[in-house]
Formats: sequence, structure tokens, C-alpha cells
Amino acid sequence: MKSFISPQLNNIVPYTPGEQPQGENIVKLNTNESPFPPSPLVVKAVTEASDQLRLYPDPFSYPLIKKLAQAERVEENQIAVSNGSDEMLAFCFQGFCGDGAVFPNITYSFYEVYCSLYFVQKTLVKLNADFTIPIERFAGLKSTVFIANPNAPTGVFLPLDKIKTLLEQDRSRLVVVDEAYIDFGGESAVRLVEHYDNLLVIKTFSKSRSLAGARLGYAVGSESIIADINRIRFSFNSYNVGVMNMAAGIASLEDSDYFEVCRSEIIKTRGFMTQQLSLLGFKVINSKANFIFAGEHELIHARVLYERLKKKGIYVRYFDREYIDNFLRITVGTMSQAKLLAEEIKKELLL
Ligand SMILES: *Cc1c(COP(=O)(O)O)cnc(C)c1O
Repeated sequence: MKSFISPQLNNIVPYTPGEQPQGENIVKLNTNESPFPPSPLVVKAVTEASDQLRLYPDPFSYPLIKKLAQAERVEENQIAVSNGSDEMLAFCFQGFCGDGAVFPNITYSFYEVYCSLYFVQKTLVKLNADFTIPIERFAGLKSTVFIANPNAPTGVFLPLDKIKTLLEQDRSRLVVVDEAYIDFGGESAVRLVEHYDNLLVIKTFSKSRSLAGARLGYAVGSESIIADINRIRFSFNSYNVGVMNMAAGIASLEDSDYFEVCRSEIIKTRGFMTQQLSLLGFKVINSKANFIFAGEHELIHARVLYERLKKKGIYVRYFDREYIDNFLRITVGTMSQAKLLAEEIKKELLL
């Protein structure tokens, strides 16, 4: 059949999302979703917002921007919103990478996909053997820096003084910090925004606010960077945040008690999973995210374990990539899912 794709996109390799299996008895620990439903206030707000579905949403998403500015303690003109943080990342790769992009060789794999989509020259910095980021290797590089913090899929957190070093290596170079997992124990770089006008922090409602299905993300940065993001945004889709997303986001920010309960539950269960899997003989990387990264077991290869767990209806994430192909990324679910997982792994190891 004739293909109509532009020749320059003919070889593009798209992002591979985690499997979204359907079924009752599936234990889904593969895409870092929250095991908890969104706050009841979100459900109520979304239902009420359905009245406005006839109309286009506010293109400025002003009520949401106002809430976010309060929550992040910045000015309203320092926030931009997007349809999931992936869209915000896309804006950055498209708009801020004239001198290329540089990021670790092991990180969120969407970065490479955006480089091919937007023809951005990429430079990869190899992680240390313990999966920490050798930030000194970014010195002297002019390209826009992308750091997922905590990193994916390792869960390793890069302390803020290291982010500061990256910012100070070259104050005319933009550093984008992707904080999709920051609420699970790391420290956000948002407070550095007032000191560094070469910093952009990107956050999402998908993970810690149980809103992966809504598609809502945002960025915090200097007035100038945010104005540029909005120029790109309005050149692409001025209605990128729908009325339901916006209502969901606002209500979620209003229920901070619920947010705290969910995240502390995840942190507690992460501790349990880390302990269980270490006891079972896995190497478990110290995670500040809502997943753990575990593998290098003496008796079973990660790929084999991934396949066997899948047969039992337990989905975890396996990456067939150099350096990490003997590890599994396992989302922190509920405590009962964590117990079940440990039991089933024990059976596989015949302990
Ligand atoms: C999940 C994730 C995102 C994207 O999340 P959205 O659902 O698009 O907001 C961005 N960066 C990293 C590192 C992620 O893991």
C-alpha cells in the first residue's frame, strides 16, 4: 500500500507505552499509575464540569494557573499548562533545542523520540555504574539539558546542589528538570526558579495525583521562558487543556489531605517492597519514585521473571536495553499487591 508519511519521518521509531491489559484479576504494576482513585473532590468537580462541555475551554486555563501559582508560590506568569507533561516536553524539544539536547543514556525514553520527531541533535551522557548521573560530564556542552528527577526507570534522585551545579556550569544554557516523580520523597527544584532564569521545572498530575487518564501537566520557570512556551502552545493547540482536565486539576490541588495520605501510603509500600525484594536476593536501587528498580538476581534473569509474572497476570515493566536488561521496573501498588508480588516471586525462585 502507498505510504504518505514525509520521507524525513519515514524511519521514526515511536515511544513504546507500557501494556494496558484489560481484565479483572490483573495486577498492573507496569506504568507507574497510582493504585488509588483520584480524590472524591475531583470526581465531583469533573461531574459538574461536564455542564461546560459544549464550550471551548478557557485558552489561558486561568483558574488552574491561579491555583498552581499559589501552590508553587510563584507568579501566575511563571506557569504554563499542558495536556500531560509529555506535551510540555514536546514543546521544549521543539522550541528550546536549537543547539541540540543532552541527557543521560538511561532515562525517560520519550526524550529520544522527541529528538527524532523534531530533528534535534542529541548527546547522551553515560550514567555511572551505580546509575547516578555524572554531572561534571555536562560541563562545556551547549545543548539544552534534560534531567528526569528522580530519574526513570531507576528511581535515583539527583540532589538539588547537583542541579545547581548544572545550572551554574553555563547560565546561558537551559536546564529542564522533569519532576514527574518528585512528590514521592525528592526535593523539587521549583524554589531555584527565582535564582536561575535558565531553569524550567516540569510536573504532572499523572502519578502522585492519580490523574494519568486526565492528561494534565505544567511547567514552572521564568516569565520569559513561560511566555515562549505559550507562543509555541498557541501555535499548536490553544485548547490543550480541556474543561474536565482543568476541573480535575483544580479540585486535586484543593484536597491536599487526600494527596498526603496517598503519597505517604506509596512511600510506606515502597519501603516494604524494597525490603522484601532485597531479602529475596535482588539488587534494589534506592528509589525516590513510585516504582522500584530491581534485578541482577543470581537465580533468575529479569526477562524470564517478567514473562512468568505476566503469565500470572502480574504486569511489570521490562526494558530490553543495554545496562538495564537484567532489571525490572515495578510500580508501587497497594500493600496487598506488594504482598502478592513478593509471594509470587518467592514461588518462582522456589524458596
Ligand atoms: C510519566 C512520565 C512523564 C509523562 O507524564 P504525563 O502523563 O504525560 O504527564 C514525564 N516524564 C517522566 C519521567 C515520566 O515518567
